[in-house]
Amino acid sequence: MMGVPPEGLASLKALLSRAVEAAAGSLSALSQQIWSQPELAYQESRAHDALCNFFQAAGGWQVKPHYHLDTAFRADWGPDGGLTVGFLCEYDALPEIGHACGHNLIAEVGAASSLALRAVLETLPDLKVKVSVIGTPAEEDAGGKIDLIQFGAFNDLDMVLMAHPSQEDASYLPDMALNEVTVRYFGKATHAADYPWEGVNALDAAVLAYTNLSVLRQQLKPDWKLHGIFKHGGVKPNIIPSYSELLFYLRTSKYKDLCILCEKATQCFKAAGLATGCQVELEFAKNVFYNVLPNETLRHLYEVNGRSLGMEFKTFETPNTSSGSTDFGNVSFIVPGIHPYFHIGTSALNHSEEYTEAAGSKEAQYYTLRTAKALAMTALDVVLNPDLLQQMKGDFKKIKFQEQTDGV
Ligand SMILES: [Zn+2]
Ligand SMILES: [Zn+2]
Repeated sequence: MMGVPPEGLASLKALLSRAVEAAAGSLSALSQQIWSQPELAYQESRAHDALCNFFQAAGGWQVKPHYHLDTAFRADWGPDGGLTVGFLCEYDALPEIGHACGHNLIAEVGAASSLALRAVLETLPDLKVKVSVIGTPAEEDAGGKIDLIQFGAFNDLDMVLMAHPSQEDASYLPDMALNEVTVRYFGKATHAADYPWEGVNALDAAVLAYTNLSVLRQQLKPDWKLHGIFKHGGVKPNIIPSYSELLFYLRTSKYKDLCILCEKATQCFKAAGLATGCQVELEFAKNVFYNVLPNETLRHLYEVNGRSLGMEFKTFETPNTSSGSTDFGNVSFIVPGIHPYFHIGTSALNHSEEYTEAAGSKEAQYYTLRTAKALAMTALDVVLNPDLLQQMKGDFKKIKFQEQTDGV
């Protein structure tokens, strides 16, 4: 290991852990501030300010508020011209139930990992490594990372790391590709009892579409998912609904399969319009979420570091197949990266009120800081060892190639 014997590496990791512990008070305060003032996607101005202030106060960071987006930011420490390690923060909340996905803890992990890696790099002045923290809004909505990709915000990174709260520690979960579609049916209103034959029933079109998709579901591959809601279904029982609206999420394990599922669903939506005589309008999302690509080198290192800190990981033979989606998937297609999940001391499920409580609890702090240490140690392993760096880059190329060439 390039000039760093194992005992040297162990002492650098101990220093890294101490740096996290030393900042525990301010990290917890940062997390509490974000948690106690939940803000929706693209409106995270107080969280944005809190994080920018945090890095300003730490000193030595070049802070760029409103980085391409109003509520995105970037903070850089270290020299140009060498490696650049990126840590990502999320901080958007959910409607009505606040930080039920624990994104305040994602922000804390990003802040803690970057401070800790910096602390170690300061003792290694010959190593040319920059640490970059990027605040990425709107994960729960349109996907701020996808907007940021369009601005080239991640292009200068050599690796990218973040961690997401969950029920357990997992170095990888197969988050799925996702598109969403809003479907609008336009019919004709009339009196539902007096002249129903004069109407064109848009609610019927929505019901048929829902049924078409339910039938389609039994013919889908096990790792393809679709689920939807009625957003609008009429205003009064004695008025034939002239307008209805559906919102559906469509997911596949691989991004390249997503267009096939979208095409099948499109036929179902159009058929319902045809059967009822309604006009149909389909609006697919501007930002499509990609599935998250694993990186075996980073996964392995994260598990070794995590275990050294007391984490227990699921075995790879039993991956959780019921994953959601994240805009980190898109990032994982352009930079080698890792998006592990971490236990926060509760068995409550994400997107529940119980999880909101847990994400703001004192108990979550221990797990959050432990995750930050494992993430920063993983980055340290790579920046200290050119072989691991090449291996990580090789894994990235290999998985991208497989992704593009695997049969459907
Ligand atoms: Zn969520
Ligand atoms: Zn989330």
